[in-house]
Amino acid sequence: MTSNIEVLVEDIKTFVREELYPLEPILLQQGYYAVEAAVYEKRENVKARGWWAPSIPRNYGGLGLNLPDFARVSEVLGLSFLGHLTFNCQAPDIGNMELLMEVAGDEQKERYLMPLIRGEIRSCFSMTEPEHAGSNPLYMSATAVKDGDDYVINGHKWFTSSQEGTAFAIVMAITNPDAPKLHQRASQIIVPTDTPGFRRLRNIKIMGEAGEGYFTDAEVVYENVRVPQSNLLGKEGEGFALAQMRLGPGRVHHCMRWIGICERAFDLMCKRAASRELSPGKMLAEKQTIQHWIAESRAEINAARFLVMDVAHKIESSGAHAARVDISLIKFYVAGVLDRLMDRAVQVHGALGITDDTMLAFAYRRERAARIYDGPDEVHKSAVARHILKQYGVTISI
Ligand SMILES: Cc1cc2nc3c(=O)[nH]c(=O)nc-3n(C[C@H](O)[C@H](O)[C@H](O)COP(=O)(O)OP(=O)(O)OC[C@H]3O[C@@H](n4cnc5c(N)ncnc54)[C@H](O)[C@@H]3O)c2cc1C
Repeated sequence: MTSNIEVLVEDIKTFVREELYPLEPILLQQGYYAVEAAVYEKRENVKARGWWAPSIPRNYGGLGLNLPDFARVSEVLGLSFLGHLTFNCQAPDIGNMELLMEVAGDEQKERYLMPLIRGEIRSCFSMTEPEHAGSNPLYMSATAVKDGDDYVINGHKWFTSSQEGTAFAIVMAITNPDAPKLHQRASQIIVPTDTPGFRRLRNIKIMGEAGEGYFTDAEVVYENVRVPQSNLLGKEGEGFALAQMRLGPGRVHHCMRWIGICERAFDLMCKRAASRELSPGKMLAEKQTIQHWIAESRAEINAARFLVMDVAHKIESSGAHAARVDISLIKFYVAGVLDRLMDRAVQVHGALGITDDTMLAFAYRRERAARIYDGPDEVHKSAVARHILKQYGVTISI
């Protein structure tokens, strides 16, 4: 018997192929703004089909999928770079929605969460600073100082993803510089992006491309940005605890999206190998190197999917904390699979692979970052090894 989730995944896959693939050449050749109106039109279609905000509980207006089911959907949405955005489950908004559902007060929910869930606005997350190692965000310079009923925020952030076009940022800033523990010094505060003193310096060029709108990463300054203290999320000093909260399920979302990209690249790679003639009647697919890449890629994608789904089930049944080592495991493993897949697919396409005539170069440019953001490979590998070695009597300090 076919379960509901299987039907849903197949239906969404068809939608992505039929409705979103045709928009991609416009995105690739003319940029985000050339395709934005069409994406927002498709969003209405998604709402009408009852698929809107698939990870958000029904009482908030979403489809209410649990984490393993959403992971399945996330994979097929990942087949297109427009998938998650069209279904309103794109990073960083999905992480902000999850956070706000968990810790926001009624007024914060009304003003920021609900418009986000309805897809009326977008948001961003502003933690990393160019002057400090983002892989150890305990060290940061941004401050939020109380003044009357307000916080006055000063800071310099970068890689505030998708900032262009957002209504608000969630910023991490030091509110309790004298707290004895480093991880109790920062807080998360909502900052509407039209607040005086909030300024985007630039969209950072990544691999030669600054992007537009949703597909950007901004460098931002906060200069005496004044917001009411009621914009604090949770309690003062809880910033890192809240950041951890968003990262567990968030890494499953990313990993399954990457598996979707891998499947797309795999399909293109096989089609190219089967259609490119090296000489009359001699196909590229007949070369053993290509065959090995295809076999290795198939095995790696399947293994990655099993691993991630296993972790999704663990988080669902025992919570993110219990699954934290496995979460580190999938983060670096799947990012590595994606890296290898993209490289092989580009190589099989030859010169075509590095043009924007297929989605490969766009994916290659944007997703090299998968091994860096949400914790670089090395940090996650060390975390996994530390945990294993502890069972062998070796305690390694961070
Ligand atoms: C595309 C993209 C989107 C992003 N989006 C956001 C966002 O929306 N909001 C936000 O706040 N931030 C965002 N970031 C920032 C991201 O979180 C940081 O880049 C990441 O945490 C790494 O920090 P860093 O770049 O400062 O590298 P560093 O901390 O300087 O590390 C550099 C390198 O050193 C090595 N390294 C670091 N630590 C260790 C270790 N313990 N052991 C061994 N080697 C190590 C790794 O190879 C690492 O790549 C984004 C980054 C990218 C690339």
